[in-house]
Amino acid sequence: MLLAPRWLLPELNTLHTVATPVGASVEERVIKKMGELLRAGAVMLDLACPICNAPLFKLKSGEIVCPTHGPVRVVKTDSEAIEVLSQSVLDRLEALATSRIGSLVDSIDRAPSVDEEGRLLDELERWLDVLERVRRLKSLSVRSEK
Ligand SMILES: [Zn+2]
Repeated sequence: MLLAPRWLLPELNTLHTVATPVGASVEERVIKKMGELLRAGAVMLDLACPICNAPLFKLKSGEIVCPTHGPVRVVKTDSEAIEVLSQSVLDRLEALATSRIGSLVDSIDRAPSVDEEGRLLDELERWLDVLERVRRLKSLSVRSEK
């Protein structure tokens, strides 16, 4: 019996199956998105998303994206990976500090007693320290990238 090689079949999911061994669990939605990317002139890479294992695409702009997770930063070295990772931890910490400071300001405004206000101000001071340090660290790592 003669069967057409699978990679000659035009369906995107077949293309996907052949090009990257990511298993059969790729959802319809992802396949559709991959079709959109290809139609937009994106090129499928031999790299997989570290989160969902879907193949990554390079857009005409040079940006690399996962069909599910959007932009992906490809790093070449371990130290670059650590740099990106620590940057994302700092981003999260900055967001956390900002949100805690926001809710502390609200609490201080509504503090029922001077004691309570003092306690909240101490806490606020610690979070402001955190925020200041995060911003300093971020500005240092931006400078070292240049
Ligand atoms: Zn992904």
